[in-house]
Amino acid sequence: MRDQRDEPAEPVGRTSFALTLDGGDGPLAAVVPADLAVCPECIDDVVRSGGARRKGYAFTSCTNCGPRYSILRSMPYERSATSMDDFPPCAACQREMSNVDDRRFHAQTNCCRDCGPRLWCVDRSGRRVAGDREAVPAAVAALREGSVVAVKGLGGYQLLVDATNERAVPRLRARKGRPSKPFAVMVESIDDAERLAFVDETEAAALACAENPIVVLRQRGGTSLAADVTCGLGSVGLMLPTTPLHFLLLRNFGRPLVCTSGNVEGEPLEHDESAAESRLDGIADLWLHHDRPIERPIDDSVVRVVAGRPVTLRLARGLAPLPLDLPTGSPTLALGGHVKSAVALSNGVQSVLGPHIGDLVGLGSRSRFEQEIVGATRLYRTTPHRLVHDRHPDYFTTRHAEQSGQPTFGVPHHHSHVVAGMLEHGWIDQRVLGVAWDGTGFGDDGTIWGGEVLLSAAHRSRRVARLRPLPLPGGDAGIREPWRVALAVLTEAVGPRVAIARMSERVEVRRCERLVELLGKRRFSPLTSSAGRLFDAVAAIVLGTAHADYEAQPAMLLEGVADRSAGGTYPLPLVEGDLVELDWRPLVVDLVTDLEKGCSPATVSMRFHRALAAGIVHVAKRWPSRPVVLTGGVFQNRLLVELVAEAWMDDRPLGLPGVIPPNDGGLAAGQLATALTSDFATGV
Ligand SMILES: [Zn+2]
Ligand SMILES: [Zn+2]
Repeated sequence: MRDQRDEPAEPVGRTSFALTLDGGDGPLAAVVPADLAVCPECIDDVVRSGGARRKGYAFTSCTNCGPRYSILRSMPYERSATSMDDFPPCAACQREMSNVDDRRFHAQTNCCRDCGPRLWCVDRSGRRVAGDREAVPAAVAALREGSVVAVKGLGGYQLLVDATNERAVPRLRARKGRPSKPFAVMVESIDDAERLAFVDETEAAALACAENPIVVLRQRGGTSLAADVTCGLGSVGLMLPTTPLHFLLLRNFGRPLVCTSGNVEGEPLEHDESAAESRLDGIADLWLHHDRPIERPIDDSVVRVVAGRPVTLRLARGLAPLPLDLPTGSPTLALGGHVKSAVALSNGVQSVLGPHIGDLVGLGSRSRFEQEIVGATRLYRTTPHRLVHDRHPDYFTTRHAEQSGQPTFGVPHHHSHVVAGMLEHGWIDQRVLGVAWDGTGFGDDGTIWGGEVLLSAAHRSRRVARLRPLPLPGGDAGIREPWRVALAVLTEAVGPRVAIARMSERVEVRRCERLVELLGKRRFSPLTSSAGRLFDAVAAIVLGTAHADYEAQPAMLLEGVADRSAGGTYPLPLVEGDLVELDWRPLVVDLVTDLEKGCSPATVSMRFHRALAAGIVHVAKRWPSRPVVLTGGVFQNRLLVELVAEAWMDDRPLGLPGVIPPNDGGLAAGQLATALTSDFATGV
């Protein structure tokens, strides 16, 4: 997925081959290499042809594969600058590395059983129960018993459990404090993936690529997976083995494995042995450690193929740091948002979007965020002259910027999303129409936005259209309990009597009545133009989703049930005014009529998605001359994006999401681009 570039170079008159180092103290110009998954040749070495040194050896790698970023102490990338420095190569490994005909020529991570890292297992009492050769069999035996095994992977610990065990999977959910957010599953091969999910050519390529992300796929019915792996979403995230260690575990276990981040929910990924033992105490039954330090903890990436191209949902191992094609300027650090946090950095020579850090809710994640900044600025050898942040006053990142004592630069949330989308397509010097739809973002007028249409250049945006605002009763409580927004939306569209009658099937009548009384009180029911909240409301009306365990769960459930073959749509008229509005009330009226006629949720959901797609196309036609960018977390919805793409009859380009995450994980890229192009505009 990563671009490879060939550039012409002038001859420099050398007569022999040598690798020269990018030394010096100036800002780093070289590209920081991303981690690579184990290659097929190394798997073959591990399975059969590697001899005593490599057969069954979990750290086998070559020039084409193995860890890079996660083991880097500094640049340039060479063994002495990585945690492989702790493992001097044996004579046999050294010979391979000096042989120009060997696959391991100059392989910085080259090692074997005689000289490389080792495995061992520890049980709940902290006792070492297996050494290097017995570690994989011990972990497999524990998995067979339904135990949770914490494995030190490439970028951090992962929690593994038998994905087909109906008792073990819920046990992991209970221990990790993760009631229903889907778990990723690791399988040995594409064939195994196809047994669990529908995999097209692009998806197979995404699964097999060296970046090795989790790929979100449409789940097949009647598979061996335990119900609690995906909790009824209709999709499943699958990945292939990242390292020989993962491969050996899967080969010996013979069944798919749940493979989820090794952390307490909401806390950062664990990456060293002692912290993993203490922090995952009560979650794991067995720890499978190794002795190669992880220098830069990094989660697994997540992608989903949408309209034929991979879209990054989480930019992490294999994909980060992501080089950004931006003008150079003064060294600048963009801090991103509050959830799905990631930072973007320009050192004056190059710009990158860093890896996913997590939601900056707990102290652990906040301290990881601060470590990430220190790590990135050292690696890229720079000291930022200013900090770029979101305009939301309560974000941790905003306060971090304000308290830094450095110059700051605030960028509106949805403008950042649009600019990230422009950057995705190399449109940074163009004027675009940006459709920025997400859950929650702080708007220029101090209200919560999320269904916005902006006329944008990289340094400035003007809002021209939005979704008609809807009341969010109870503020944040309305996000956790979508029945509240559903009741508000129904009250506006079909009146309080019908609204209460519909929702009281799920919620006590008295609570409904009380809430309707409070709808007019703006302090209790702030207005929001958020498309994410409209999805919540419709999911609650159609599916009865009264509670949301995680952000976007109702929308994901709604997308999951839609039947593409169902015909029909709902009206979503454009209402002219100072600000053009898409009025969802006629949509809700027809949707309720459909439900009253006994229409299935599959049909109603499809019609809802089709109405939104038509609404987006309709708005775009109103401003006909500019390229259109779709951005924001709502466009993680494959069905919605594909419906817009199918309905697109325009000659002008439609910019769909791609490698820069459309969700808040891509905000920092948009922030950085805004600051750097504003430099250009003002000549700073
Ligand atoms: Zn290899
Ligand atoms: Zn060796």
